[in-house]
Amino acid sequence: MALSRGLRCCARVFSWIPVLIITSVVLWSYYAYVFELCVFTISNTLEKVAYLLVFHVCFVMFSWTYWKAIFTPPATPCKKFQLSYSDKDRYEREERPDAQKQILVDIAKSLPIFTRATSGAIRFCDRCQVLKPDRSHHCSVCETCVLKMDHHCPWVNNCVGFSNYKFFLLFLSYSMVYCVFISASVFRFFINFWVGDLPNGPAKFHVLFLMFVALMFLVSLMFLLGYHCWLVVQNRSTLEAFSAPVFTTGPDRNGFNVGIRRNLQQVFGDNKRLWFLPICTRFYTPTLFLERYPPVGFILQPCSWRDTLLFLEVLYSNLVPGEIPSCRFYTPTLFLERYPPVGFTLQPCSWRDTLL
Ligand SMILES: [Zn+2]
Ligand SMILES: [Zn+2]
Repeated sequence: MALSRGLRCCARVFSWIPVLIITSVVLWSYYAYVFELCVFTISNTLEKVAYLLVFHVCFVMFSWTYWKAIFTPPATPCKKFQLSYSDKDRYEREERPDAQKQILVDIAKSLPIFTRATSGAIRFCDRCQVLKPDRSHHCSVCETCVLKMDHHCPWVNNCVGFSNYKFFLLFLSYSMVYCVFISASVFRFFINFWVGDLPNGPAKFHVLFLMFVALMFLVSLMFLLGYHCWLVVQNRSTLEAFSAPVFTTGPDRNGFNVGIRRNLQQVFGDNKRLWFLPICTRFYTPTLFLERYPPVGFILQPCSWRDTLLFLEVLYSNLVPGEIPSCRFYTPTLFLERYPPVGFTLQPCSWRDTLL
């Protein structure tokens, strides 16, 4: 027990190594660009200021997005998806697998779950004891189920999923911008150092390496970002690209695809001006409203599937009166336009109903 805890602790420490490597490379690139290139090599003041200005914009955007990708905790299924004590007891006491499956089917009836395991059963995580919401998966590194899980990324030492996918994409984009700017602006000096027009010294070594490292990262980032752009346009996660999600009607690789514009909105939000900033922007009007006027409680009411689209996200919140729910922005169900359910919605049942 103590050994496994020790090993886990070691693994947690070692998992920061890739982040440390990236941080060290970036800090070195900062020193090499700002001091060795701009301060010690470039003599023209105007050129120096222009390079430093653009460089710092790229550097700040890169650092901001990297920070957000690393430190945004993965969104996990809310309490509604956890088995209650009585359900858990019933599930554990039942020994027949078919009866256990039926118990999960009964519980899932009150939840917005539309995907199934390949066997057709309700997706259930034994370790977290939750019914898995659509698109969520268990991450063995984070030891939890993660909403709209894409993959566990060692370079950010975090699960890339619903809560930080936008930040991760922006991180890849700004890393690329950073590398493109460095290679483009360093190129002239790289040639000058190479042919001997500039004197030998530490600056030469830094500039040559800056060029090589920027190009090396640029090539790898191009492939990775290209692949993720393709995934966003198709509304697929990396995991779904490898194994198609299974709906009640069977597997469908395009099950979540609701058109390019709305696929992009699901990741980047409604407000296009905030698309390029690492700020959480996946708001929809009803949620914004509920944030200001937390309802006292909710009841489920049948409705058309169009209403369901507007309100389903609220189901993912913890619905504690007065508390801002942690998973309130999870809107995985826009795909329902392709699979219209009978429908149900949440109706706030406090005096604030009238405001809605
Ligand atoms: Zn789990
Ligand atoms: Zn993870």
